[in-house]
Amino acid sequence: MDTSVIKLSHCEKDIFCFFVPDQCPECGMSFSGKRLEEAPVSVPNPFSNGHKVPCAFLVAPAEHTVLRDFDGQSDLHTGITNTNGIVYNYTRAGVQRETEGWERCVCVPLVQPDMFSLINQWDQYLEKFSSHQMWDPLCHSFDEETHNCYSFTLTFINCVLAAQSKPGLSKDRFTHTFVLPRIRRASKYMMLCREISQNHFHIVDSPKRSSRESPSEDEDSKAF
Ligand SMILES: [Zn+2]
Repeated sequence: MDTSVIKLSHCEKDIFCFFVPDQCPECGMSFSGKRLEEAPVSVPNPFSNGHKVPCAFLVAPAEHTVLRDFDGQSDLHTGITNTNGIVYNYTRAGVQRETEGWERCVCVPLVQPDMFSLINQWDQYLEKFSSHQMWDPLCHSFDEETHNCYSFTLTFINCVLAAQSKPGLSKDRFTHTFVLPRIRRASKYMMLCREISQNHFHIVDSPKRSSRESPSEDEDSKAF
C-alpha cells in the first residue's frame, strides 16, 4: 500500500506526486521530450520492515490510527528487535515475541554496527530482561500509564546502557531525541500521501537553495 513519493521542481515550486506528470501542474508546460532542470528525486519512505532491522526500537501505529505526537502511551505500540528481527513487546498478556506484524513501522536502530560485543550479547540480554518477573503478568500488572510497552522498551535500553557503564536516558530525552523526529517525519509523509491521492499533487514553494537539504534530524544518532 506504500506508494513512493517523488519530488520534482518547476516554476520555483516543489511538486510532490506519485508519477512524473506529462506537464507542469503550475504552468502547463509539457515535460515530454524536455529536460527538467533537476531530475525528480524520490522522497525517502520513513517506514521500514521492523523484522529486518536488528537491535532496534520500533514504533508501530495501532490499527487505523494516524500517527500523532507521541506521548509514550496512547495508540502506538513499541517493541525491541533481537538480532534476528524477532520483536519483543510487552502487552497485558506479558512479553510477546513476534516474527510478524511489524512490517510497517518507524525504526530506531539502537546500536552502532561495529559494537560487536554488544551485538553478540544482545539476544541474551533481551531474553533475560524479558523473563524478569517485572514483566510477568502474574507478578506485575500492565498499566496504561506507568507500566506499558514504552516502559518495557525504555527500561531495557537503560539496562543495556547501565551494563555498559553509560548514563541512562530519561523518557523525555529518549522520546525527544530518538522518537519524535522520526514520528514527525512519518506523519508528514502520511499527510503527503493522502494529499497526493486526493489531488494528484502537493505543491509548495521551493525553499531557497541555500537552506535546502538541511541535514535530517538525528538520523544517525544511536543510543549506544
Ligand atoms: Zn512549471
